[in-house]
Amino acid sequence: MKDACHPSHVTRVSIDSSSYDEICVNCGATDLVIGGWGQLKFPCPNEIRSIDDAWKEYENDFNAMTDEQIERECSYEQSKLDEAESWLEAVALWKKAGKPRKSE
Ligand SMILES: [Zn+2]
Repeated sequence: MKDACHPSHVTRVSIDSSSYDEICVNCGATDLVIGGWGQLKFPCPNEIRSIDDAWKEYENDFNAMTDEQIERECSYEQSKLDEAESWLEAVALWKKAGKPRKSE
């Protein structure tokens, strides 16, 4: 592994410690004044992902799918969502109406 700060850390320069120069504000890992980047060489365990990167959770899916497949999947999910919404709405209205049931 090359001796560099891993980009997942968010470091600030420390002026209050003599044992390190930089500390990660997310995980507290520090470099070593003598001996390089220390724990900062390894990926940050507390990396805070920006919401803009949330799509990366499905990165593999996007890689494996064509635009057309993605669009088709979207309409399918949207129709399920619409159905679920109208069901929930109907249940809420039915409860409000006092849960009427037809007796046979
Ligand atoms: Zn970190």
